[in-house]
Amino acid sequence: MRKNIVAGNWKMNTTVPEGVKLASEVNAALEGITPKCDVVIGVPFTHLTAVKAVIGEKLGLSAENCADKAKGAYTGEVSAAMVASTGATYVILGHSERRQYYGETAATLKDKVALALENGLCPIFCIGEVLEERENGTYFDVIKAQIVESLFDLSAEDFGKIVLAYEPVWAIGTGKTATADQAQEIHAFIRGLIAEKYGNQVADDTTILYGGSCKPSNAKELFEKPDVDGGLIGGAALDAASFMGIVTAF
Ligand code: PEP
Repeated sequence: MRKNIVAGNWKMNTTVPEGVKLASEVNAALEGITPKCDVVIGVPFTHLTAVKAVIGEKLGLSAENCADKAKGAYTGEVSAAMVASTGATYVILGHSERRQYYGETAATLKDKVALALENGLCPIFCIGEVLEERENGTYFDVIKAQIVESLFDLSAEDFGKIVLAYEPVWAIGTGKTATADQAQEIHAFIRGLIAEKYGNQVADDTTILYGGSCKPSNAKELFEKPDVDGGLIGGAALDAASFMGIVTAF
């Protein structure tokens, strides 16, 4: 059975004390409820250890990236092993902002996924088309290529350890959410690709999140779709009440 997950992506926001406060608020809100999904926060590298110290078992912790090399002379990089040593169990990989601003390619991401898995981290692997690709109708090909080139050399066992996040780039941080039907169309397409490659069982068990201006007011409609298994949440994850409004949409 696949998991439902709501995961926050704080991006480059909050200082360490601010992040510890926000994480403590989310943690406290979770204490009183039994959510119908797993809940994860993705925080900057600098915050991982301090945040881990103030959260309990109900809240998962994610990094927002990791290096494409295991260790060594790569000044400024943070390895998957370092991330895992903080107690984080997830890592967001291939976010469109990293592809767009930091030149991450399918090949780099393939290496990052392998290192994340070797170190016991669950990659939350992001895919999605830009507006031009949506408008010119090439978005199915774009999404297929992103998945095939970075993930389809994995064994079925390793593929089964990954979470996917469909994030149409035109919906990220723009306030313009994909409609629930648009999200469902792509999620079903992605699940079909996985079924063709790895079989129906792996496809059924894969968690596919939607990301892009998801908020408490639209989360329920998105999460009701059969192939939408939760959300990757940017802006709305920076406020504990809004984030919890999305968690409780399940
Ligand atoms: C994201 O960056 O992963 C994201 C979905 O951002 P937002 O929710 O702000 O659109």
